Amino acid sequence: PVIETINVKKSYTVGNNLITALNGVDIKIYQGEYVAIVGKSGSGKSTFISLLQRFYDAPEKTILIDDRPLEEIKRRSIRSRIGVVQQDPFIFRGTVLENIRLNDAQVSEASAVSAAQNVGLTQALRRSERDLSFKCEERGLNLSLGERQLIAMARILAFDAKILILDEATANVDSDTELLMQQAIYSLSQGRTSIIIAHRISTVRNCDYVAILENSRLVEF
Ligand code: ATP
Ligand code: MG
Repeated sequence: PVIETINVKKSYTVGNNLITALNGVDIKIYQGEYVAIVGKSGSGKSTFISLLQRFYDAPEKTILIDDRPLEEIKRRSIRSRIGVVQQDPFIFRGTVLENIRLNDAQVSEASAVSAAQNVGLTQALRRSERDLSFKCEERGLNLSLGERQLIAMARILAFDAKILILDEATANVDSDTELLMQQAIYSLSQGRTSIIIAHRISTVRNCDYVAILENSRLVEF
């Protein structure tokens, strides 16, 4: 498997309380599969993807990427292997193009431009007469949520991360942008192993498997 979890557990300490967020999740995801995770608020979805990115450490040997325990993989190579689109993507002050390249010289301008084109970002910006030279404010406050997510998607293409993790935006995006994002998600998933926290039925409809989380456990796959 590309991603395997074995009885993975996670709890958070809040004051004197221990909150169980994941209570023994086993999953195997193979090369090229597109898996949607669904579940009620608080069921552990975001916790699961935080662990995959090693934001928090899971118990040793409970998460394997390409059959290697996650804790044995350098953080830097985790980042280049796993591309993430969060609910609220990280945007810094600079042009859209700089935001796609993350100031990394290894990503050429040409590949960033074509990534923007392929995810529909260029098209989304053009609707309001902007282009890739548009200057983003700190945290992308002068961009819509959908545009920020499209930038994060363009990064994944430009960096060619082989694993795609996406926490779909729950906030309302307009229906034009939603359609662009939907197409972008689908085209990004091609040739990648993808895990998508799905809030929209259209996302679930395109996937190979649906993982249902309930009360910190995987109840159906
Ligand atoms: P949503 O659909 O609302 O995004 P989710 O399925 O992503 O929910 P998680 O964010 O993984 O759920 O939360 C699982 C449980 O862990 C919840 O009870 C939540 O309150 C708790 N939790 C999540 N993050 C933290 C944190 N940083 N500190 C303390 N408790 C947390
Ligand atoms: Mg969440």
